[in-house]
Amino acid sequence: MKLLYRHIFTVLLFIFAISTISVMAQDRAQPIDGDGVYSFLRRHGREVPRDVRAFRELNQGRLNSRGELILGRTYILPPLREGVNSSPSTSSQQTTTSRGTNPSIFGRQYSEIPSQSSNLRGALFYIIAGHGGPDPGAITRVGGHTLHEIEYNYDIALRLARNLMMHGATVHIIIQTPNVGIRDERFLRNHRNQTCLGEPIPRGQMDRLRQRVNAINRLYERDKVNYNYIRAIEIHIDSRNPRTQIDLFMYHADDVKSRRTSRTLLREMEAQYKRHQPNRGFHGHIGHRNLYILRELKPPAIMIEMGNFQNALDRERILNHNNRQAVANWLTNGLIADFKNTP
Ligand SMILES: [Zn+2]
Repeated sequence: MKLLYRHIFTVLLFIFAISTISVMAQDRAQPIDGDGVYSFLRRHGREVPRDVRAFRELNQGRLNSRGELILGRTYILPPLREGVNSSPSTSSQQTTTSRGTNPSIFGRQYSEIPSQSSNLRGALFYIIAGHGGPDPGAITRVGGHTLHEIEYNYDIALRLARNLMMHGATVHIIIQTPNVGIRDERFLRNHRNQTCLGEPIPRGQMDRLRQRVNAINRLYERDKVNYNYIRAIEIHIDSRNPRTQIDLFMYHADDVKSRRTSRTLLREMEAQYKRHQPNRGFHGHIGHRNLYILRELKPPAIMIEMGNFQNALDRERILNHNNRQAVANWLTNGLIADFKNTP
């Protein structure tokens, strides 16, 4: 009898040891500041979105009420898949390396970056299309088309980003639409699958803002060591009474660099408008506004509103792709001037 007990005990000990080993064999890791589930999994060589559900099941009760990671906590990673190695971003999803966003984001027609100058060598930009994911931004109707602000923000953001690269800048495109490049079209098709550096954009308004701010601040921690000149630029189109023509205006963060850059940009826009539309006049202006994004971003930051989406005249500058390109060109000139004037 005693012997039997001893046998049972040995077997139990064996089972216990085996199960301990299999638990220990699971990879565990802690998130870094600003990590989302996607970036966390991707950094550890897991596949997203395929491994997300397994991750959530393995870590029940360890995520916060919004399903986000908590800093300082250790998480169990789902097992690595066969044939998946630690090289991230296998699909069409764009991620950003320290050298900036891959130009393939601009689409086949625009993925070449012909060098125009080295005027912006040593400058780094975070380019952000306002809104995205569940939030289309302002909506306007033209003919039979329902147009979303995000699509035009994104197109101008891409054009600006590409221009900056052509002058030697390093550019991170923060909000991305998979497989949608620069579009030479008037009515841009709507998408809801925008990402923040490959990560889906959450539902809640505050969660959305926090996600992009965290993503940029995380990059900035790394980039500020290597770049003296860094600017975050967010593109928007305003929405007001259809009769109001507002041209262009900017909000800047509450610091000297953001203020100076927005002044230089406005001066450049004024000069270009005078040159190209002398009869029209220009009513752009700049101001400071206590917006979450501008307040929380660590790099100097400027938010540009490209006109009134509801006003027919303002809208023409946005719907015509040549005009979108012109605006991107003028902003590029302004940023070159600002970079040159920065000691
Ligand atoms: Zn907006």
